[in-house]
Amino acid sequence: MSDSQDTLFSKIIRREIPADIVYEDELALAFRDINPQAPVHILVIPKQPIPKLADAVPDDHRILGHLLMTVKRVADQEGLANGYRVVINTGEDGGQTVYHLHLHLLGGRPLAWPPG
Ligand code: AMP
Repeated sequence: MSDSQDTLFSKIIRREIPADIVYEDELALAFRDINPQAPVHILVIPKQPIPKLADAVPDDHRILGHLLMTVKRVADQEGLANGYRVVINTGEDGGQTVYHLHLHLLGGRPLAWPPG
């Protein structure tokens, strides 16, 4: 792994910095956002550090599908039967701040639309 891909999320995967981890498997990790924007705010990340969605290539289709299924699994685990939102901020205009692909799972209250 190159240094440029070694964000704080890679450090969470390696347990070098603490996080409230709610799910893990061989491909993905899910942990609570440190600055929650809703009663439930969880980040789902691939263990393989794709910097942003715009960098994904066709061979990434399996991990991308797995991340969405992981969001669904964690949402079920969190009891979000009334609905939830999944957000991927991508690049500068998308408001991305951590360049390790992550899906925000937000729920536990009604969410306004449009965002931003
Ligand atoms: P984004 O703006 O889409 O790149 O989202 C990055 C998210 O990471 C923000 O919601 C931050 O609150 C969250 N975050 C930053 N550092 C940590 C951390 N150490 N543990 C958990 N979440 C974090």
